[in-house]
Formats: sequence, structure tokens, C-alpha cells
Amino acid sequence: MVEPLPHVREIPPYVPGKLPVARPGLTTYKLSSNENPYPPLAGVLATAEQAAAAMNRYPDMGCVALYDALATKLGVGTDQLAAATGSVALIYHLLSAYCGPGDEVVHAWRSFEAYPIAITASGATGVKVPVTADGRHDLAAMAAAVTERTRVVLLCTPNNPTGPALTHAEVAAFVDGVSHDVLVVVDEAYLEFVRMADPVDGLALLRSHPNVVLLRTFSKAYGLAGLRVGYAVADADVAGALRAVSLPFGVSSVAQAAAVASLAAVDELFARVDSLVAERDRLVAGITAAGWSVPEPQGNFVWFDVGDRTAELAATFGDAGLAVRPFAGEGLRVSVGEPEATDRLVGILESIRPPA
Ligand SMILES: *Cc1c(COP(=O)(O)O)cnc(C)c1O
Repeated sequence: MVEPLPHVREIPPYVPGKLPVARPGLTTYKLSSNENPYPPLAGVLATAEQAAAAMNRYPDMGCVALYDALATKLGVGTDQLAAATGSVALIYHLLSAYCGPGDEVVHAWRSFEAYPIAITASGATGVKVPVTADGRHDLAAMAAAVTERTRVVLLCTPNNPTGPALTHAEVAAFVDGVSHDVLVVVDEAYLEFVRMADPVDGLALLRSHPNVVLLRTFSKAYGLAGLRVGYAVADADVAGALRAVSLPFGVSSVAQAAAVASLAAVDELFARVDSLVAERDRLVAGITAAGWSVPEPQGNFVWFDVGDRTAELAATFGDAGLAVRPFAGEGLRVSVGEPEATDRLVGILESIRPPA
């Protein structure tokens, strides 16, 4: 047998959020993947359908229309952008361009489950720094974990799955304290849902620190998870390296067209984001009133730190038609979805014993 490289056997599996199990007489809700519960905007869908009519042709490998629209929106050069099949792909691209065996990548844990997968796949070594009891990055411990072998630090803000976001002052101080030859990746997948004092201004960080890389996605606030498109904003050298290692023609024409149409429809899309944030607030109020607590959520999801009750609670929610995302033995992540889903979730919480 031809063997893959040894580290390939070490790659942890990705556990995708499950679909709800059908329950006769019950509407079910998928709260397991932090997806946007709204259906596509009619105009975006029509644009995507039009693009699909040319599926016999390769997409624009240069993503020209998308880069132009993003550059205008963000006030950066098109050479500072790199698009890929979701921002997850950009993590792979970044690690393949900057890391190999012997290099270290520092990240918080529990954080985004794709990080250890991508790091292991690159051959590098992940260094996991535990989040605090309230689900925040421990930036002092992360700074202390940086060694001369560290090539990349991944910051996830808001942190998936625990919920809290970092402040601008925190990230700025962290970046100031880290060597210029370490890339600091700020994964902003949930940027649009942040409502807090002193939110991270990633573009300002990038202007003063060329070793900062911002990762953004159309999957969450923009509701295009199924089309797979995200992007990095970085120094032109870094963005060039990311484009160089990307799969040719990775981002489909349908995804490119839908992303451009979505950027033109931000007013409508962000009104939906505002509704989801209001729903998040209503969910947190219900959770608190039921005697439970969650770390401050700044994304479109909440985290129940329920340890060894995780499987039991996931089953209880599942039986009630709510698919949530259990992390075995650690906790449950529940996405903010339809108001009926919020009501059902809170109703269940009211009927069961909160953790001591
Ligand atoms: C959902 C998510 C992403 C984005 O994934 P895509 O590949 O763009 O769909 C990136 N980072 C985090 C932390 C996420 O939760």
C-alpha cells in the first residue's frame, strides 16, 4: 500500500452540524451550523441562476468583478485581496504558503474546529491555548505561547463556538507585542453580528501592521454558505502568496456573481443581520430568565458550557425538533435561527435543571 504522509493519519475529523431528524407534526429547525436562516434575496438568486446558465465555461480566475467590488467597499487595493472557496480554504492556503513541518501555529481552544484540521494537514504543529472560563481568548497566554518556531497566530473573533469577541484595544496590543515575522490572522467570520464597545477595526490594524491578515466570508451574514466563497484582506505580498497557492478556478462563477450581487444588496442583507442580532438578544434574555447562562454572544450563536451533560441535552433538543451542535463532553453550540426556534429552545430550558 502507498501510504500518505504520516501527519495525514493524524488529521482530526470535521464533525458537520447535523440536519434535524423529521418529527411528525413538528416543524424542525437546523441550528447546528451557524447558517443564515433567511432564504436568498430574490435578486441575488436570479443573478446566481443567470451565472449558472454559463456553467459550461470556467469562472473568471482573476475574480475581477468581486475584487473590484470588495476593494471599493473596503478601501484597499485589489492586490490586497485573495478569494477562495470559503474562508476555511484561505486558512489552508495561508498555512500551505507559510508553514511546514517544525513550524508552530498558536490558536485558542476551544475555537473553530477547522483550525486543528488545517494545521495538521499542513504538517505544522498546533499550539492550543485554552480560552478563559467565560469563553474568551487568553491573549496573555497566547502571546506567551509564541516562540521562534511560531509562524502564525489565529485569532477568532467572535470566537466560534464560545461566542465572545475581542476588543480593538486587545487585538491592537497583541499585534504590537508580537514579532513582525509572525502572521496574525484575525478570523472575522461573524464580524457583521458584533454589537459591542470598541469592536475590532481589522482594516486599521492591517494599515499599521502588514503581518495582519483578515479573513471574511459570505457564508454567515450574507447567507451564501452553500456557494463557498470567502476572502482574505492582507498586505499585497501576503495576498499574492495566498492567490499563488490557491486552486485554479476555485471560486465558481455562481459564487462570484452571487457575492458581487450581495455586496450591492447590503442594505437589505444587513437589515436581516439586525433582525438576527435582535433575535440573539431575545434568545439570551430567555436563556437568562430560565436560569441558564451563556458567554456573551457576539456572533449568530450561543454556547452552553454543559460538560458531561452535552449528549443528553443535545438529545433533548433533537427530540424537540431542534438540531444543535454538540461538542462531546464540552458543550453545545446553538445557532440563532427562526423566532419559533428561539421560543422552543427557551421553553425546553425552562423545563430542565440548569447546571449548578
Ligand atoms: C463559519 C466560519 C468560517 C467561514 O467558513 P466558510 O468556509 O467561509 O464557509 C470561518 N471561520 C469561522 C470561525 C467560522 O465559524
